[in-house]
Amino acid sequence: MLIKKAYRYELKPTISQTILLSKHAGAARFAYNWALNLRIEMYEKEKKHTNAISQHKLLNTLKPIQFPWMYEVSKCAPQEALRDLDQAFDNFFKGLKSGKQVGFPKFRKKSRRERFRLTGTIKIENKEIQLPRLGKIKLKEKSKVKGKILSATVSKDADRWYVSLLVETEIQVFLRKDKESIGVDVGLHSFAVLSNGEKHFSPKPLAKKLKRLKTISKQHSRKILGSKNRQKAALKLARLHRKIRNTRQDFLHKLSTHLAKTKSEIIIEDLDIKGMLNRFNLNKSIHDASFSEFRRQLTYKTEWYGSKLIVAPRFYPSTKTCSVCESIMKEIPLALRSWQCPHCSTLHDRDINAAKNLLKFSTGSSPGIYACGDTSTGNKLKLVDLSIVEARINEWNICP
Ligand SMILES: [Zn+2]
Repeated sequence: MLIKKAYRYELKPTISQTILLSKHAGAARFAYNWALNLRIEMYEKEKKHTNAISQHKLLNTLKPIQFPWMYEVSKCAPQEALRDLDQAFDNFFKGLKSGKQVGFPKFRKKSRRERFRLTGTIKIENKEIQLPRLGKIKLKEKSKVKGKILSATVSKDADRWYVSLLVETEIQVFLRKDKESIGVDVGLHSFAVLSNGEKHFSPKPLAKKLKRLKTISKQHSRKILGSKNRQKAALKLARLHRKIRNTRQDFLHKLSTHLAKTKSEIIIEDLDIKGMLNRFNLNKSIHDASFSEFRRQLTYKTEWYGSKLIVAPRFYPSTKTCSVCESIMKEIPLALRSWQCPHCSTLHDRDINAAKNLLKFSTGSSPGIYACGDTSTGNKLKLVDLSIVEARINEWNICP
């Protein structure tokens, strides 16, 4: 099977290479903003749209007179930026059609997370990469790239430069003999709880770093705008963000690989992440990225390892259904980490019970199906009032 895979390496550029990298990122940002501005003007004046190809032609005719400095960088950098803009508009228009909220393309700001993409002759060998216009740049570690390189995205993260290579490569189709399905309940309390009772918590250093992030963010916002100290604080903040990202990515990769390799079916829930984070007032960027990234990784890894990812719909009552007798409670307050079913008296761990119900979703013996009114499998649906649950909890004195 032919797949696309990404490899990421840290670069070890010389001082002159670092300057040239920044110039490339600058040219990409400039081209993007220049093109976006033209598109807005064009639409306001003539109600017309354009595309990356015509904008690239225009840029080339203007280059010798208006932007001669652009000759210092590879022509790919601005060209690919125009393609990115095309994609951003595409997403925006698709969003309008489907009713999904996708923001209008924004101007790129000069930031500590600059980036540009290159195509063409890109070679990687041992601890060195060759990029158009930039020549050979050393890598911090030995490369393991196998396959055809399609593009290279170079990005700056705080004070370091990275290259991410998109590679087309052939992988052997994984023939699975084992058949083990697993329900995975993703949540804020423990990151992932499996229907077999396993609980996976976010790594502890992450929680510590998140605390530190709050402190450093505060320090940064107190420094005077434009001052040297503000710059120093911003770099410190960007470095910590990078550390958090790396720790989180590492955790997510290990867990998603483990699941995709060892289970034949993985059932997760289609989470309303935005709503959830708004309700609990959490650091959005961090949690949001974790959940969607986890699902993204599972999507492609299950394909690689021949397993299947099943997503249960949002209305599926995984939390409030008793996984033993299938009674559905009206509501289970979030503070309750465990509860007892008033019908069959089973004592449930909130998250394990939800994961068990998700597991049932794939087999069809799910409460979701009963809730839809399918009586052919025997309708066991019983709606239970919360007051009964609460009474039971008081009776058993279960710690919420
Ligand atoms: Zn029950």
